[in-house]
Amino acid sequence: MGDVMITIGSHVSFTKEKQMLGSVMEALSYDANAFMFYTGAPQNTNRLPINDELTELAHNLMLNENINIDNVVVHAPYIINLANDKNAKFNVDFLKEEINRVERVGVHLLVLHPGSHVGLGVDKGIENIIKALNDVLTPSTKVTICLETMAGKGSELGSSFEELKRIIDGVKCQDKVAVCLDTCHINDAGYDLNDFDAILDDFDKIIGLDKLLVLHINDSKNEQGSHKDRHENFGYGKIGFDKLMKVIYHPKLKDVPKILETPYVDTELGKLAPYKFEIKMIRDKKFNDHLTNDIVQDNK
Ligand code: FE
Ligand code: FE
Ligand code: ZN
Repeated sequence: MGDVMITIGSHVSFTKEKQMLGSVMEALSYDANAFMFYTGAPQNTNRLPINDELTELAHNLMLNENINIDNVVVHAPYIINLANDKNAKFNVDFLKEEINRVERVGVHLLVLHPGSHVGLGVDKGIENIIKALNDVLTPSTKVTICLETMAGKGSELGSSFEELKRIIDGVKCQDKVAVCLDTCHINDAGYDLNDFDAILDDFDKIIGLDKLLVLHINDSKNEQGSHKDRHENFGYGKIGFDKLMKVIYHPKLKDVPKILETPYVDTELGKLAPYKFEIKMIRDKKFNDHLTNDIVQDNK
């Protein structure tokens, strides 16, 4: 075991039957002490009511298993596009409801993709995002919205720290807005992970490290600056094991929850979650070059 107790977990499911209780159980099956879930399908806004009994059972299990609620994250559905003023009312209403759901399950962190300007231009897109966030966030909001660093695919906004800073600066409730840094996305956006210290310095100067509240840990299928956004398994992509480990064990990020969103692995038994073995290689600080094999053995 490593000397530093790191906070690591993965994306997990949130099912109709078990809701957050199922999410905690899945996280525990990966030996995780953090996790992230969507409150419904990520690609749509159909949402079921929260079952408070299941939430209570989830919180009790987390207490018993030493998972701190501060290391639990919800991801908003990615079809919400605050940068487009078309459907603005629907998006704002949905995001308000989502915040209510997140508060109801007792989670404090909500990751949100800033949005795509869809041809409106960067300035107009950012203006729309700011307006929407100011419609959603009030002084009594208990959840912090963590704007995710994006790969810059299509007209995505938020692929530079400067753009995220412009959004944050326009929000009235500044204490309710922060950042989620995704390693695949910043690589694809053009940041050079060979020098992560320089990236963090940049982040600190432009946004402030106190605003970095969530890390998405993904390798990338593509080169630096590709603007593609295709995640790869830990250590198997163009970023690689050593550079990702530097991010995870960075002393300045010790208390930031780290969430894997690496892809399920195609195996003879079907597509299976890699997280138990990715978390193990991170804790053991040793690259596992037979990931698929271990996953298959474990599922037999
Ligand atoms: Fe995301
Ligand atoms: Fe992400
Ligand atoms: Zn992504």
